[in-house]
Amino acid sequence: MSNDLDPAAIPLRRAGRSGLDLPAISLGLWQNFGATTARDAQRSVLLHAVERGVVQLDMANNYGPPPFAAESFVGDLLRRELRGRRDELVLTTKAGYHAWSGPYGEGGSRKYLLASLDRSLASLGVDTVDVFYSHRYDPTTPLTETIGALATAVTSGRAHYVGISSYSATRTREALAVARDLGVPLTVHQPSYSLLNRWVEQPDASGESVLEVADDAGLGVVAFSPLAQGMLTDKYLDGVPQDSRAATGTSLRPEYLSEANLARVRALHEVARARGTTLARLAIAWVLREPRVTTVLVGARTVDQLDDSLAALDEAPLGADELAAVEAALAS
Ligand code: NDP
Repeated sequence: MSNDLDPAAIPLRRAGRSGLDLPAISLGLWQNFGATTARDAQRSVLLHAVERGVVQLDMANNYGPPPFAAESFVGDLLRRELRGRRDELVLTTKAGYHAWSGPYGEGGSRKYLLASLDRSLASLGVDTVDVFYSHRYDPTTPLTETIGALATAVTSGRAHYVGISSYSATRTREALAVARDLGVPLTVHQPSYSLLNRWVEQPDASGESVLEVADDAGLGVVAFSPLAQGMLTDKYLDGVPQDSRAATGTSLRPEYLSEANLARVRALHEVARARGTTLARLAIAWVLREPRVTTVLVGARTVDQLDDSLAALDEAPLGADELAAVEAALAS
C-alpha cells in the first residue's frame, strides 16, 4: 500500500463545534475483527479502508470475540503494515458493556471505565486514543461518576476527545451539563441511525430529540449501523444467505427480518433501482443527507462490501421527489 494517504479520497466533515474532522464514512470493528474471522480477511478490509481514506477506526473493549481482540489486531497492524501511521488515523474505543468477569467488568463506574481504557491502550500499543466513549448510559452509576471518568481520560492524557453512545436526548443533556461543570467538553454522540431505525429523530420525554440536542450543543453525531446490520442491502431479498450475519451471528435477530421490514426493504430496493444505484449506497447516502451527522460507521466483511458502501459518496444529493419516495417505501 502507498505511504501517503490521499486526503481528498473521502470528504471530511467537522464533528459539531469541535476542531476534529472525521471522514464521512468510517469503519467499525464490532464484527468481522475477532477470532471467528480469518486474519487475512481482516487485514485486507482494514488496510483497504485506510488506503481509501477511511481513517477513523471505531472500536470498543468488547469487539472481537474475545474482548480486546479487535484492538489487539489494530495494535498488530500499527506495529507492522501501519507502522509510523498512527497520527494519520482516528482511533476510537468505548467501555460500557461486558468486557471481563466480575463486578468491575461492565457498566459506568470510574473503576471500570479507566481500567478498561488502560487495557484498550495496551491492546492498541498506544498512549492515547483519539476518542473514548461511555458505550451506554448506566442507570446504576451516578452520571457525575461516569462523565467524571471521561474527563479524567482527557486530563490524564489517555484520550484526546470523549463522547457518549446511545444516550437518550434527556441523558445527553444531563451528561453535557456534567461535562461542562468539569470543564471537559463532550465532542461526539454515537447513536444508531438508519432508514429502519430513526429513533434519534424522535423527541423523548424532554421534548427534544438526540439530533436536536447534538445540534444545539455542538456535538458531532457518529451514526452506527447505517445498513441496519446488512438488512438495507439486497442480500435478504430472497432469503437468508449462509454467510450472512443473520445466519452466522447473534446480533441480527430473526425478528428483525420480519415480513413488515422485508416489505420496506423491497420497496426501498425499488427506489434505489430507479436511481440506478444499490440499496446499500442509497441507505448510506440517506443518513449522510442529514447535516447533523458527522460520519457513518459501516461494518464490512469483505473489500467489495466496503467499496460498495464507499460508492455512496459518489451519489448525487437525494432530491425532494426521491426523499418522498423513500418515505412512501417506509410506509409500505
Ligand atoms: P452496518 O449496518 O454497516 O452493517 C454491516 C454489515 O452489513 C456487514 O458486516 C455485512 O454483513 C453487511 N454489508 C455491509 N456492506 C454490504 C454490502 N455492500 N452489501 C451487502 N451486505 C453488506 O454496520 P454494523 O452493524 O456492522 O455496525 C458498524 C459499526 O458501528 C460497528 O462496527 C461499530 O463500530 C459501530 N456500532 C456501535 C454500537 C454502539 O453501541 N455504539 C453498536 C453497533 C455498532 P454480512 O456479514 O451479513 O455480509
